[in-house]
Amino acid sequence: MAETPYDPQNIFAKILRGEIPSHRVYEDESVVAFMDVMPQGPGHTLVVPKAPSRNLLDADPATLGPLFTVVQKVALAVKKAFGADGATVLQFNEPASGQTVYHLHVHVIPRFEGIALRPHTGNMEKPEVLAENADKIRRALVG
Ligand code: AMP
Repeated sequence: MAETPYDPQNIFAKILRGEIPSHRVYEDESVVAFMDVMPQGPGHTLVVPKAPSRNLLDADPATLGPLFTVVQKVALAVKKAFGADGATVLQFNEPASGQTVYHLHVHVIPRFEGIALRPHTGNMEKPEVLAENADKIRRALVG
């Protein structure tokens, strides 16, 4: 069966092109990080390579080193920003795995002892809460 091609109209491609808004916390030449609008916990951040790929399965291996360098930076920053005990890093490939947006991305979620994640398909967070959380993460990334 033929692989499904990358769709440049996916929502993260639109965010990367600046066609729809996001709460960005980090950007360099190859990677962007922004707040997940339906967070599974406070500070849930998505780390996204600028290079187009549907997911990990069709990604150029050259994009993965820079991507995971930023995943580590963001994991350290969210842990610091929210006084978390740890961080969960998640990445889904194809519908069978739970992927819903078809541009490669990595979830980074601060974790607290004894507190479960909210469901993956949850409620939309208030923009002012996302803005405040993004601000905390930006400060932790520079500090
Ligand atoms: P998945 O493809 O299953 O790894 O999850 C996609 C994630 O993108 C979900 O956690 C959604 O809450 C999140 N999401 C969907 N639309 C947006 C958006 N416009 N801005 C930020 N996050 C989004």
